[in-house]
Amino acid sequence: MSTVTTSPRRITILGSTGSIGTNTLDVVEQLGGPANFDIMALTGNGNIELLASQAIAARAKLAVTADESQYIALKDALSGHGIDVAAGASGLQEAASLEADWVMAAIAGTAGLQPTLTAAARGADIALANKECLVSAGDLFLDTVKQGGGRLIPVDSEHSAIFQCLDENHRDTLERIVLTASGGPFRTFSRAQMADVSVQTARAHPNWSMGLKVSIGSASMFNKALEMIEAKYLFDVRPDQIEVIVHPQSIIHSMVGYTDGSVIAQLGVPDMRTAIGYALTYPKRGPLNVDRLDFAKLARLDFEAPDETRFPAIRLARTALERGGLQGAVLNAADEAAFEAFVDEKIRFLTMAEIVEEVMDALSGLAPAKSIADVFAADAEARNLAHTLIKTKTRAA
Ligand code: NAD
Ligand code: MG
Repeated sequence: MSTVTTSPRRITILGSTGSIGTNTLDVVEQLGGPANFDIMALTGNGNIELLASQAIAARAKLAVTADESQYIALKDALSGHGIDVAAGASGLQEAASLEADWVMAAIAGTAGLQPTLTAAARGADIALANKECLVSAGDLFLDTVKQGGGRLIPVDSEHSAIFQCLDENHRDTLERIVLTASGGPFRTFSRAQMADVSVQTARAHPNWSMGLKVSIGSASMFNKALEMIEAKYLFDVRPDQIEVIVHPQSIIHSMVGYTDGSVIAQLGVPDMRTAIGYALTYPKRGPLNVDRLDFAKLARLDFEAPDETRFPAIRLARTALERGGLQGAVLNAADEAAFEAFVDEKIRFLTMAEIVEEVMDALSGLAPAKSIADVFAADAEARNLAHTLIKTKTRAA
């Protein structure tokens, strides 16, 4: 769908009630609202009140809750508004199948994979916030986008930055990409201090306001691990071309290094609306009301090498990249299971990485995926194994 886009542009937001979803609706409003955009479908999960109010305000054609038990509640909330309602996995499929030109993939976790694949297969431009599509399904996801004929535009701030700095006409001169990481709330903590941290302290990100999974992933650096794998597929680079640098201010969102020694960086205040806006207006830019960088006030930018002993996630991402095949899917599924167990206070913070490593090692012999079914099978196997390990590592009350 890289042909000329007619106005208004038809858009769908998968995961509209989340952090990325609500920011996307804000960007849509800032860039002209209904005059420029037709909202086809919005999807959420448990937050029916918010989903209904979004659907009414945006005059969406379809509203979908992933939670089937909430179907009646959503139907009641939207009664008389002329908005179609659906629920469950089939509802998400219906949302992804509607003829939108541009689809924001912002469902958190593996739950986002199937609907995003459906939208990509149909040829929609995919604004990709969800990391799991590429981390788990890798080349199979890219093949689906290619066959569908739409564009894949990264939304993750680091990948949006690289996308903005990459000179596609001179790909042969690309030497390395440098992903920046804030270091999260435990950047200066010792391993002993990290051992006992609570969910509340782990979720308090110093710079970005994000959903729970990304916030905990920033504290453990598993978010960066997913982003390293995401970068390999998005930019077709070798594992040794992917660097991570801790940059506590989160002003440089990532960089591209070229064979002449030049490094091109993208900077901005930490606000996801810039990356979302770029994905919506690409290859142009739209005017956005976000804070501007004040360099005099900023005064300095700091950098430090990531400590792979305190943050094993970075090392595990390298292992997954080197092993290839289904290790991304395995790392992701084990991380999701370990994250849920940590949030439920079943395991301690550092146990998350132990579980991911043990699951990756146990499943390192899986044959490469031939189909998405193989990806879902590996995901399920990794999750089951992670749950078994979680039981043996459950913290004392
Ligand atoms: P969030 O938790 O705030 O929102 C998640 C959305 O997905 C909500 O709309 C929720 O209703 C929906 N959802 C949750 N579980 C679901 C399920 N089982 N089935 C269907 N829908 C479900 O998450 P977020 O922070 O907005 O992140 C969304 C995605 O974007 C994630 O994959 C995340 O890694 C990625 N991302 C987020 C940020 C950020 O700043 N928040 C930055 C980069 C990438
Ligand atoms: Mg990111």
